[in-house]
Amino acid sequence: MELVEKLKKSSVAKLAARFPHGHLAAAGGLSLSLIVLSAFSSNATVPAERQLNTLELPKFAHAEHSLPSPSASPVELETSSAAQWQTRELEIKSGDTLSSLFKRAGLSDREMMNFLSATENKEKLNSVRPGHKLKFSFNDMGSLEQLRYISSKLQSHNFTLDGESYRYSEDLREPDIKVAAASGIINSSLYLAGTNAGMDDKLIMEFAEVFGWDIDFALDIRRGDSFRILYEEHFVDGEKLRNGPILSAEFINQGQAFNAVRYVHQDGRAQYYTPEGRSMQKAFLRAPVDFRRISSNFNPRRLHPITGKVRPHRGIDYAAKTGTPVWSSGDGKVIKSGYSKYNGNYVVIQHGGGVQTKYLHLHKRKVKTGQRVRQKQLIGTVGSTGLSSGPHLHYEFLLNGVHRNPRTIVQKLPKAEAISTALRADFERQTSPLVAQLEAETATLLALNDSDKQPKAL
Ligand SMILES: [Zn+2]
Repeated sequence: MELVEKLKKSSVAKLAARFPHGHLAAAGGLSLSLIVLSAFSSNATVPAERQLNTLELPKFAHAEHSLPSPSASPVELETSSAAQWQTRELEIKSGDTLSSLFKRAGLSDREMMNFLSATENKEKLNSVRPGHKLKFSFNDMGSLEQLRYISSKLQSHNFTLDGESYRYSEDLREPDIKVAAASGIINSSLYLAGTNAGMDDKLIMEFAEVFGWDIDFALDIRRGDSFRILYEEHFVDGEKLRNGPILSAEFINQGQAFNAVRYVHQDGRAQYYTPEGRSMQKAFLRAPVDFRRISSNFNPRRLHPITGKVRPHRGIDYAAKTGTPVWSSGDGKVIKSGYSKYNGNYVVIQHGGGVQTKYLHLHKRKVKTGQRVRQKQLIGTVGSTGLSSGPHLHYEFLLNGVHRNPRTIVQKLPKAEAISTALRADFERQTSPLVAQLEAETATLLALNDSDKQPKAL
């Protein structure tokens, strides 16, 4: 009897001696998993994810120790074959940290630290952003076999267990590219017409940027203006991922046609040119504000609310909300950033070629006198300081000290840089098909638009 009892005791002691860590780890793992579970049940997670978590509970419990635990039933061991790892895919939400993500995957801080210290190129994980995904794969033993950081449908960073450390590799895919076309006639705004033509915000913005040196999309637009555009659409596995760049485009503004084509230089840099090979990029932007933020119902000829007279107007007024960014229309040097009773907060910039630009009634000034600025650099925000009836930007353009209309002065300024003779042949080869395709693709679209209009005209 005594012997039996002793044997019993010693075997229990032996068991206890052999597995205390296993049990502790199991308990620790379990409580961690419970915390994870309760965290899941408190937010709106899809039921499938919760179920997956439940299924993986035993795995996490043994994650720290690779020796088989006596409590592991044979059934459990059979559920995953070597080829089929248990995986957990997590989408990153705002507020997530690497630590919280590892916890959600069932890994402790210590396991995360172990992973990080044994991983090459771990700094790739620094660019983790909401919407990106982390895919954890565990082997039969419950150890992390691979972490995939999926930053887009086209790119993933893989950290795969190789002996004692994790080896880095990258998967890059090229999207399938299709060429798409859109066209429209403007009734009230480029934004609405673009949206009706199926263009997304980004594409409309890019279109406005291509022509931003020729057209003031806030004030130059008239009913009946039209546009045509050829652009790339990028697909992955038959699913549209995003729009690619604009390839060629035309804008007819107040009867005048403006055309642009995209040319990719040998170094991969892309730039827009007229089909004749002149850069679309010029020394001055037509408007120093984003056209989408301009209120259309502004009447620059209205009476001055304080003096009751039509103010002698030597500039252009853009009505926009207080705080709207104001850009420098060209490269130059700030010769005055100050305040006066009439101008309010104002900035004056001296550019090359005897051009000066002025920006008045700013809410805030973002540059200092003497500072150099680049084209489209933020110099202040729209406000209503000084003698002003409401938030707007008063913009002036002076050539050799004389106020000029930026719309008509363009012809008097030095011409935009032309494509070099050396690149001419390559330019033609690349861009002439794009011009032809724009014609072909939009001919039917424009015809449709016209037939749309005819019943009203008849
Ligand atoms: Zn004004």
